[in-house]
Amino acid sequence: MKKVMVLKRDNKSIAEKVSAFKKKCKESGLRLTPQRLEIYHELVAVTDHPSVSTLHKRLQKRMPTLSVDTVYRALLTFEQYGLIVRVNTRESQARFEAETKPHDHLICEVCKEIVDVNPGFFAETDVPEEVSQWGMIKTKSVVYYGICNKCLKKEADQEGLKPKTGRMDSESS
Ligand SMILES: [Zn+2]
Ligand SMILES: [Zn+2]
Repeated sequence: MKKVMVLKRDNKSIAEKVSAFKKKCKESGLRLTPQRLEIYHELVAVTDHPSVSTLHKRLQKRMPTLSVDTVYRALLTFEQYGLIVRVNTRESQARFEAETKPHDHLICEVCKEIVDVNPGFFAETDVPEEVSQWGMIKTKSVVYYGICNKCLKKEADQEGLKPKTGRMDSESS
């Protein structure tokens, strides 16, 4: 069985991504303010696919005057320029990531954690014929929904704490 590996961002890959980002901004004429750079840097450093409000909360610690709206508009602009991607989830809040290479995701329905799957088994396989006949496929990825091990363990622990309430089955009348 192939082991599922979780992508982690190290300092080298963060630095590489930031410099690639700067280059792309320059090439596409996107004005790069210090704020925008901070926002991108915060997003590229993490692997948890944060929402706008999560990202804003983290950035606020060192940029107290930063508004949620600024973060939101920056992310939308980055998305339009193909610098970041939005993850398709069942949540109402959009989740973003700086990893633009197609890959698959594991999403926990309990804690809402999103984990990258590398290699993306589906993202790297060819599309079936009926799909390719439909038209031009630009991107594809698969999302696995379920409950992560941490949440499963929590659930099991809570079950253990509950008093045992044996169901009263109808004995006789
Ligand atoms: Zn979970
Ligand atoms: Zn991802």
